Amino acid sequence: MEDVSNAYEPGDDTAAGGSYAAPKTTQDPDVGRRAFRQALVDARVLYPSAVEGIYGRSGLFESIADGLNAAISKLGADQHAEVMRFPPAMPRKDFEASEYLKSFPQLAGTVHCFCGSDRDHHRLLARLEQGEDWADQQRPTDVVLAPAACYPVYPVIAARGPMSADGMVVDVLTYCFRHEPSIDPARMQMFRQREYVRLGTAEQIVAFREVWMERGRKLAGMLELPHEVDLANDPFFGRGGKIVADSQRELKLKFELLVPINDGAPPTACMSFNYHMDHFAHAWPLRTADGEPAHTGCVGFGIERLTLALLRHHGFELAKWPKRVREVLGGL
Ligand code: ATP
Ligand code: ZN
Repeated sequence: MEDVSNAYEPGDDTAAGGSYAAPKTTQDPDVGRRAFRQALVDARVLYPSAVEGIYGRSGLFESIADGLNAAISKLGADQHAEVMRFPPAMPRKDFEASEYLKSFPQLAGTVHCFCGSDRDHHRLLARLEQGEDWADQQRPTDVVLAPAACYPVYPVIAARGPMSADGMVVDVLTYCFRHEPSIDPARMQMFRQREYVRLGTAEQIVAFREVWMERGRKLAGMLELPHEVDLANDPFFGRGGKIVADSQRELKLKFELLVPINDGAPPTACMSFNYHMDHFAHAWPLRTADGEPAHTGCVGFGIERLTLALLRHHGFELAKWPKRVREVLGGL
């Protein structure tokens, strides 16, 4: 078998090292994205598919992802979070309640199935055989793909009635789906978000977010990743979306921790620190101990993006990574 272990050298901002020549002079950010993607595919770190943004992950990739999750758990041990693990799907009615379609219709993925008769089945097979479109025969189910790890949490907590005065912290991890096909290896259609979700009063959420912005920086530092934290906004859809995004910025509702991943492209958001105000308490009856609409916020770690950032900066050979970084990841 061909040896692919040396196909990529760690990114180095001061020296052009390794067989992956960083295309630094170009203005087109896609050149750097394609080059990193190709290096990952050539080294069999990611397995590409016929669809952009849908990849298989190698053992190396998964061991780094596992290490990240362990490091995040350690960082959050004092949160006494309730651990919840959901499949990468949620009830359509909860998804509708979240108003995701109002803000991000372009990203949503719904699950459709064949629900027909024998005759419909014959028609389906005939269309397939003739290479015709068959998908319009599929019917929507009660299931949609999870767009963010924290969404399934809110209806569960709301159903329990008012929270205690301390509010709650929930620890979630799930694959999420966003329809944003891209050649950027850091922009996948299915990727994992690890989140701590805070529910309670406005003051509790704001304090939580402060703590986690500091911890996010600390984690990036311990992983020896160049990074910066910046104000951000979500990609709200359409003409009205611009106004919503501006207001999100003005209210400082979203911050991101950015790491350079693709040469010649802007740095990539690898963590986000979100304050939703009482948005989700309007979708579900989330109440504080006083019976007031609860506020919520979350810190989200992009497991794929952080893994890619580590591969980009430390290389494809774990043995050559800084010892301290491997220790932070549970002794990889
Ligand atoms: P909210 O709960 O407010 O909707 P969120 O924190 O759940 O926000 P984002 O901030 O959009 O959702 O995403 C969280 C993290 O997920 C990002 O910081 C990023 O690391 C990762 N992420 C987002 N989109 C992608 C993608 N297409 N491919 C890989 N990782 C992604
Ligand atoms: Zn979230």
